Amino acid sequence: MRIIADLQIHSKYSGATSSRMVLEELSYYARLKGLDVLGTGDALHPIWMEELKRGLEKVDEKGVYRLRGSGGGPLFIVQTEVATIHELDKKTRRIHHVILFRDLEAAAQAADLLSKYGDLRSDGRPILDITPAFLVELMMEVSQDCLIFPAHAWTPWWSIFGAISGVDTVEECYEDKSDKIYAIETGLSSDPLMNWRVSRLDRYTLLSSSDSHSPYPYRLGREAVVFELEDVSYDEIVDAIKKKDSKRIIMTLEVPPSYGKYHWSGHRRCGVGPIPPARAREMGYRCPICGRRLTKGVEDRVEELADRPPGARPPGALDFQYVIPLQELIAVSMGLDYSSETALNSKKVWQQYMGLINSLGNEFHILLDASLEKIAEVSGPRLATLIADMRRGAIKIRPGYDGVYGRIIFGSASGNTRTPTQKRGSLEDFL
Ligand SMILES: [Zn+2]
Ligand SMILES: [Zn+2]
Repeated sequence: MRIIADLQIHSKYSGATSSRMVLEELSYYARLKGLDVLGTGDALHPIWMEELKRGLEKVDEKGVYRLRGSGGGPLFIVQTEVATIHELDKKTRRIHHVILFRDLEAAAQAADLLSKYGDLRSDGRPILDITPAFLVELMMEVSQDCLIFPAHAWTPWWSIFGAISGVDTVEECYEDKSDKIYAIETGLSSDPLMNWRVSRLDRYTLLSSSDSHSPYPYRLGREAVVFELEDVSYDEIVDAIKKKDSKRIIMTLEVPPSYGKYHWSGHRRCGVGPIPPARAREMGYRCPICGRRLTKGVEDRVEELADRPPGARPPGALDFQYVIPLQELIAVSMGLDYSSETALNSKKVWQQYMGLINSLGNEFHILLDASLEKIAEVSGPRLATLIADMRRGAIKIRPGYDGVYGRIIFGSASGNTRTPTQKRGSLEDFL
């Protein structure tokens, strides 16, 4: 049975999230998207925990839950993200971690232990005043079933390998608890190809999830893991991750890394970027307008830690497939500015989206499997062309930088180079 899982999301109790991040909405949109398993997000937050207890019911004793009384729909795995702040070599390190729990009771126990080190009430993703190693130690005290892995591993801020407040190795981060780390979340701005360049990461399972702040299918499941499982249970999923089992983990679904908000360097406030690695190095990572430091791109950071040339595939590496949210492709095919949420949530785009879902099946089926002829029949040749380009990784994207998402350039792969909108034409001057 093919299972698509988005193992890291947030609830409405995390900062900068949609007020619609509630269980019913998540279940509804997960169905449209084709997600079978969803993290609950924010399981340490006391109010969200109450909502989870009320809104979810256990499916047997499998460590997965579903919406109470629903009888179907996506399954939930108890999950949170936390931030640790600690000092190493006189430098402050700020790192995000994902934690999966076998049940709500374990999460409640974890909340009990962690409440001494941070304010769990203030944000769904709490900031803890402890070392990552101590975090692992505490979670193992709760249960050996907990799975901890670094979140969006390369983003400049708040990540294990982040250019600004990260470290260079898993061991520097988790110290004597490193043997409890089995996976790394690659984040939107990096893909497996980039991670494969760092041989030290070969032993880890590269995971992808959306870290979504909104329930809409252009955010939820934007990245995900495709499993092949006989039975969907917490133990089965965690065991497949721990063993990096390519029979049970078919592939990850990844947005092209240039689409992520930190792929290349730049300085958003001055409108400077995206700047490719070689050019950013020549510039000494200084903004030519204000003289401040540029926010270093993820590609640059990978380059610093890489010990293999681009294109190398280590043995045992898991497969991946590039995907782009269907609503964004629809918006691009209509010539709309897909980076605007108003456009993505417009009646026009939703009508087209629901038309496709109603005639062909859920979004992942349309993106991954549906025949291009059928897509063209329902939505016209432009969308079918975009999906074909996406499937072979040929969509051209102007890379993201310093918090600005990358921009899809329509038709680049098929000879048409029209860009739907270009906010600041003068940026190219710095390239
Ligand atoms: Zn995070
Ligand atoms: Zn600047």
